Amino acid sequence: MKTNKNELEAIFPQDEKGSDQYFTGNSYNYTLVDVDSVFTTAIGNVYFEPGARSNWHSHPAGQILIITDGIGYHQIEGQPIEIIKKGDVVKCPPNVRHWHGASPDVGLQQLYIVPNTEKGIVVWQEAVTNEQYRK
Ligand code: MN
Repeated sequence: MKTNKNELEAIFPQDEKGSDQYFTGNSYNYTLVDVDSVFTTAIGNVYFEPGARSNWHSHPAGQILIITDGIGYHQIEGQPIEIIKKGDVVKCPPNVRHWHGASPDVGLQQLYIVPNTEKGIVVWQEAVTNEQYRK
């Protein structure tokens, strides 16, 4: 359901709200594939409202993002912010600090795929400051 022009039509349910400990603003996770010993892959959807983003973090086995709607930002530490949009596929190598989230005015929906979960899924770090976000 679209409630205003900047709000995206949700593809998956907006299930668990992202913890303020790990996210700035409003984001919602929906698990699509639970971690198990057969597939060792975590898959889910995150819906970021405009301005919402993850903290800095890394994935011990890397992460692939598939953007399904909206406009957002992805930044690997030391590199410029990359604009990501519907249809983009973004790879983040293992153990590389990065963050991802919505742009200030348009939300983002992204599928995440974390392979080889036996190595770990995510290592959370500090929040992305407004200064870092607006660069
Ligand atoms: Mn990530």
